[in-house]
Amino acid sequence: MRVVQKFGGSSVADAESIKRVARRVVATKERGHEVVVVISAMGDTTDELLDLAKQVSPHPRPRELDMLLTTGERMSAALLAMAINDLGHDARSLTGSQAGVITTGQHGNARIIDITPGRIVSALEDGDIVIVAGFQGVSQSTKDVTTLGRGASDTTAVALAAALDAAYCEIYTDVDGVFTADPRIVPEAQRIPQICYEEMLEMAASGAKILHLRCVEYARRERVAVHVRSSFSDKPGTWVKDMEYEETGMEQPLISGVAHDRSEAKITVVGVPDQIGKAARIFGIIAQADINVDMIVQNISHDPDGGGPMSGRTDISFTLGQDNGAKAIAALEAAKDEIGFAEIIYNDAIGKVSVIGVGMRTHPGVTARFFAALAAAGVNIDMISTSEIRISVVVAADVVDTAVRAAHSAFELDSDEPAIVYAGTGR
Ligand code: ASP
Ligand code: MG
Repeated sequence: MRVVQKFGGSSVADAESIKRVARRVVATKERGHEVVVVISAMGDTTDELLDLAKQVSPHPRPRELDMLLTTGERMSAALLAMAINDLGHDARSLTGSQAGVITTGQHGNARIIDITPGRIVSALEDGDIVIVAGFQGVSQSTKDVTTLGRGASDTTAVALAAALDAAYCEIYTDVDGVFTADPRIVPEAQRIPQICYEEMLEMAASGAKILHLRCVEYARRERVAVHVRSSFSDKPGTWVKDMEYEETGMEQPLISGVAHDRSEAKITVVGVPDQIGKAARIFGIIAQADINVDMIVQNISHDPDGGGPMSGRTDISFTLGQDNGAKAIAALEAAKDEIGFAEIIYNDAIGKVSVIGVGMRTHPGVTARFFAALAAAGVNIDMISTSEIRISVVVAADVVDTAVRAAHSAFELDSDEPAIVYAGTGR
């Protein structure tokens, strides 16, 4: 059987952990499998490299940043190969480019367009264990080295599993799998034994950091079974795969998990003339700046017939990533006179809390239960958005933990066995 195993930064934080990972990889190989390993940079290496770049240059060119950041994964790949060789097995490390990970040319956020795994396959045929540096590839057009975005080693692993037709893809991390909430906030959170792609997608999109969003999108598209588990224990983990609740006879949970996200900010454009085309213009400007927005709320017009200065005007609020805040404000301010709004209010002291579950498709009352729990916990709701299987609210940053715990209890997800967090700084 062919398997892909991915180890994250916290699983290879130092020399000892690299040797521990090597033993695990060798054990898989000795069970008779063909093993491809995808590795992240050691510990917080990527952040440290970014800090270093900032000290040298305030605005490094993206091409050079990618040259720099990809060294983190090269380092751990070579070190892991050495450790495996010392255990008496042949291992070969490959950069993303050598492994055939072909991407778009967008530095810092390139997309995989093709995988040409010839070198991996021939190494496997030679009986080698193949170690691939995660999170990187090579641009099809410029032939430059690219990175796939923060946390994207998961995506490398799933893409390789698909291209190599692996039986499954194991993602090793510092917790025992996907939990009903972040165990760092909710100690009573439970491991989810299996979860469907759809729910996992919503969890990842709602801030659950366990799996990279694009990795889940890729897994769903290519139907790759993903096993998320801890590199610090032998516990069973979480399977992300196709699930037919009816077929398995399993009871479909109402809510599978509670996710939270502290990375967003809210922009309110105050006093927008309530005229056709203004919203289109505002979000056109935001899109032009290459910024994704999440939630959007437009208020009813102020004082429609009053004739005062705010009469016939409305406020439009939206959320976006904090890292895009300054860019969005600058782009909108530049069009202030043209659009005719009064001012922009920026708030990054917010958080988003979401409850996710395919069960809500068939069960009414989920929203009421969620909001009642928030009310009982004294949490004020600022914005609301929903999908077919998700309800999200924006709340003040300092009550995110309270809101997550309240929702978790309200949907009876609390267990008595505390979850274990093995490592990781959560940075
Ligand atoms: N080392 C990269 C990062 O920290 C990629 C990864 O860990 O998946 O974002
Ligand atoms: Mg990392």
